[in-house]
Amino acid sequence: MKICRVCNSKEIRDSFTLKNFPSSAQGWTKSEIEAKVLKEDINIFECKQCGLVQITNKPVKYYKEVIRSSAYSEDMKFQRLRQFTLLKKLYIKANKIRALEIGTGVGEYMSICKELNWETFGIEGSIENIKKSLEKEKIINGFVGESNTEELKLKLFKLVDKEKINFCYCLNFIEHWPNPIRSLKEIKKLISNDAICLFEVPNFNMIKENNLYSEFIPDHLSYFTINSFSYLINSAGYEIIKIENFYNDYIISCYCKPKNESDLKNLNNKYNSEKEMISKSITQLNNNIFFWGAGHQALAYLSMIGSNKNIKVIDSAIFKQGNFCPGSGYKIHDPKILEEVDNGELIISCGGYNKEVLKIAKNLIKGDFNFYYIVNGELRRIE
Ligand SMILES: [Zn+2]
Repeated sequence: MKICRVCNSKEIRDSFTLKNFPSSAQGWTKSEIEAKVLKEDINIFECKQCGLVQITNKPVKYYKEVIRSSAYSEDMKFQRLRQFTLLKKLYIKANKIRALEIGTGVGEYMSICKELNWETFGIEGSIENIKKSLEKEKIINGFVGESNTEELKLKLFKLVDKEKINFCYCLNFIEHWPNPIRSLKEIKKLISNDAICLFEVPNFNMIKENNLYSEFIPDHLSYFTINSFSYLINSAGYEIIKIENFYNDYIISCYCKPKNESDLKNLNNKYNSEKEMISKSITQLNNNIFFWGAGHQALAYLSMIGSNKNIKVIDSAIFKQGNFCPGSGYKIHDPKILEEVDNGELIISCGGYNKEVLKIAKNLIKGDFNFYYIVNGELRRIE
């Protein structure tokens, strides 16, 4: 039974097999005989639910380790420096960057961070790689996502406080993971709640468009498009800031941050702090109060103000005139009634149309009026 490694759906499509492909991307041997047996069929399918293209092959032996040759490229180094500099400028306010790299390899990208004067800590599955790294004392041995997070936390937080890790990156490694959702969820426990994350994978959109079947290799268990990668990142509890192609379209770069408490809490707090204020500030006005607007926001404010105030509601939509506001019960009048009034107060609550309505109102009104918008639960006088 084939099951999607990201969304667990059993509904699959387009499955096919590549026969006798190399059994790993790193399996060079010293003899021809040894080399010839290192082949296997690659079984590919697409999940109908989340769209992830994936293979059913077992992970390669070294899937917890990062082996890179791309980092030796001068062009890659140049592009990374540019990318990291821009990222800091756009997304990270703190002066000092303390980064966590998931899968450091031999520390190629840690050196780039060092050039930028950033401090980097890392996690790497291969002890050999760590030994070769220039900053081995800042790398802990391990792999995130296999019920060892507590142990990783202990080791990592001895080197740096969780709250201080304001950037986390993982470059071309997620596609090797047997359970990417689980690993990404565990990463959140290692970084500060508002850390910026950069997660990158090879771009399967590009592979698909060019029918590059030779890109399939047992090392890569998942083949992400912009859509299926976004699905993964969201499902693992991150909020995407930006997702784009990088490095001649070979890579998908996803800038994101851990999704924390629901933002709805802020809305509720604002509602609670403002609901008394609106009503009070209306009471402070003199008579002849006119309220321009019977759209959904205006109706909400009128309900909060309550039905017992001396207010005339007006709206330019003819189909609303003569009817009553749901919630508060005020009758809606034609704005023309303003022409006959000598003096009064006009509150405009028309959202994006406020300025336009103010202009219309000033043309209509001959008498002596004060004008207001509702801003942060209070009436703000417009001069
Ligand atoms: Zn799926």
